[in-house]
Amino acid sequence: MAQAPWLIRSGTLVNPEGGEVIADLRVDDGRIAAVGAALPADGCQVYDARGKHVFPGFIDPHVHLGNYRPFGDDCVSETIAAAAGGITTIVQFLKVLQCRPTQASYHEILDEAIASFAARTSVDVTFHLALSTYEHMGEIPSYVERGLTSFKFYLGYKGNEAALRRGTVGVPDDLVYAGFQEIGRAPGAVALVHAENDELVRCFERAVADPERASFLEWANTRPALAEEEAVRRVCLFGMATGAPVYIVHLTSKEALAAVREFRHVSPAPIYVETCPHYLVLDKHQANGLPGATAKVIPPPRDPESREALWGGIASGAVDTVGSDHCAIELARKAHVWNGLPGFPGMETLAPLVVGEARRRGVPLPRVAAVLAYNAARIFGLLPRKGTLRIGADADLAILDLSREWTIRAAALYSSSHFTPYEGLRAGAYVDATFLRGQLIWRDGQVLAPRQGQVVLRHPS
Ligand SMILES: [Zn+2]
Repeated sequence: MAQAPWLIRSGTLVNPEGGEVIADLRVDDGRIAAVGAALPADGCQVYDARGKHVFPGFIDPHVHLGNYRPFGDDCVSETIAAAAGGITTIVQFLKVLQCRPTQASYHEILDEAIASFAARTSVDVTFHLALSTYEHMGEIPSYVERGLTSFKFYLGYKGNEAALRRGTVGVPDDLVYAGFQEIGRAPGAVALVHAENDELVRCFERAVADPERASFLEWANTRPALAEEEAVRRVCLFGMATGAPVYIVHLTSKEALAAVREFRHVSPAPIYVETCPHYLVLDKHQANGLPGATAKVIPPPRDPESREALWGGIASGAVDTVGSDHCAIELARKAHVWNGLPGFPGMETLAPLVVGEARRRGVPLPRVAAVLAYNAARIFGLLPRKGTLRIGADADLAILDLSREWTIRAAALYSSSHFTPYEGLRAGAYVDATFLRGQLIWRDGQVLAPRQGQVVLRHPS
């Protein structure tokens, strides 16, 4: 469907591949058609972006729809929350157990998953496949062939019934290694790892005298940075041995980041690091001050030193991406620290928090555009269509007002969760508008064009 052309007038373009420049940007047929000074507005709708910052639409590489609520409901409500946060592409973790009673082949469910998303989503979507059987590992080349090039391995959660109910299967090292071998041979493929040593966690859990009365801090300390660092080192070794590019999801600790830095010097295969907004703006002491399991997430928020190390990693380029780990969930299911369920919503507040805080810390905005858009596009094979302001790219744009601070209130957010661990925090950036493939889908608090998203498949370069 052809879209009316747009002229985005006089915004500060934040180019992750270059710098910041004040210019006009013209959108034709859903793509970026021209960038320059004083472009003609003939036949265009004009968006006055003076004083605002124009980023490539944000890409959230870490999203869980349907973990706790019916998938279709999540897909409708939570992708609107994404658009409200300036996100134009999400990468959903597809888990076969959310679609079938057994760990069937992804070839059995892909067509229906694609159709199901295409009917409901308000932003573009692609998938990471969570792999858990030898059959899955053997099918990696055929998944890549279908345009799905990223594969998730859960090192934690082995034998965990609660995790299984949300479709998460922890995998032993033999399966992980078999998967890495296939990925190492498949150009463009990437191994995503939830890096935590669960056996070690169980040892710390046993030391808690009374779990019923445990504080958030006591719970968080059962999943120490050591458990993350050990698993990170293990998969970096597997990556070195197999040539598989490794992408550590939701990295939390200064120890794990230091381990990655060491391996980057010696590993022939790339090692990528993702972190999350909750590790950048919360620490475990702040989380301990929230009721029950409000800020419970696995892995847990760390100490302030790790938060600072992650910001250092964003500034230096050691951290590649920031993903939300978004889960829609009712707060009632997080009343109790020990038994409360992990996860919380994060897409809508991701860019306002990270952009605002980055600016406060003096991190250059093109670097922020890289961690919130460009790097995910590069790593997951979405370039040059997504994550960039290049001519010819999809006109996915997030237009931010950095002079408009606001206070985060769950009551004003679109997620069905009706709570946020960031309640009352000040966000230093406001999403003024979101364009998806040239269509204005969000402006100043209003959803203008829901359910215009598409499923995007990738082709390895
Ligand atoms: Zn996750």
